[in-house]
Amino acid sequence: MMVLSDIAAQTVKDSRIERCERHGEYESRLLYAGKHQDYRTGCAQCAAESRAAAEAKRIADEAQAEIARKQATLTRRLDRACIPARFAGRSFANFIADSEPKIAALQAAQHFAETFAERKAEGSSLVFSGRPGTGKSHLACSIARAVIDGGCTALYATARDIIRMLRQTWERDAERTESDVLADLVRVDLLIVDELGVGFGSDAEKLQFFDVLDGRYREQRPIVVLTNLDRAGLSAFIGQRAYDRLREAGTWVPFDWDSYRGRAK
Ligand SMILES: [Zn+2]
Repeated sequence: MMVLSDIAAQTVKDSRIERCERHGEYESRLLYAGKHQDYRTGCAQCAAESRAAAEAKRIADEAQAEIARKQATLTRRLDRACIPARFAGRSFANFIADSEPKIAALQAAQHFAETFAERKAEGSSLVFSGRPGTGKSHLACSIARAVIDGGCTALYATARDIIRMLRQTWERDAERTESDVLADLVRVDLLIVDELGVGFGSDAEKLQFFDVLDGRYREQRPIVVLTNLDRAGLSAFIGQRAYDRLREAGTWVPFDWDSYRGRAK
């Protein structure tokens, strides 16, 4: 196929007036094209319109592809965040805040999510402390959602999951080393650690958990810790050094009310 610049350079063999149904009369030229077949030009306005339409389609396709790419990234990040299915639909909007302390907890969570860029710069953390079923995971997963929507990465894991992830690397045919997993746990923009206070307790496990906390502390990366323990209990459970790391950068948010569980919703 000939391109326009080839045609422009060719000799005009004849010229006549043709009529375009849409644009009226136009000059149609028969161009001598050497070894190619002679070429008769059509309506210039039709040609311009079809070029413009093709360009508009190209831009629209590109925008569509960009939206699809962003959506795929978002989906991938949500998948990787490992938010448990039962919390997947939880958001700030459907958290029932029917008392002062619940409103305070909701506001602390929302504020953390909304100012995540600053949290990330400072490496500040949250500790949600309260009985099971008080909505700690609900608010933590809402934070993860908001952080991912904002273009960052998040990972939700129970303390037990984290120890298991690190321990699996000790198996003989493990594909990844403990430091690979540790690096991932440190690298993710937001780490949410649920159920800190159950599931581990040996000194070796405490040390592993300290490595995660300390790594994130050193890199100034935010963490949200969910625990059923109070300050003294948490300090005893994870050890003074780890507790100090958390306390230095963290805000303590009490979830000091009865469980939602078993309540009609
Ligand atoms: Zn035309």
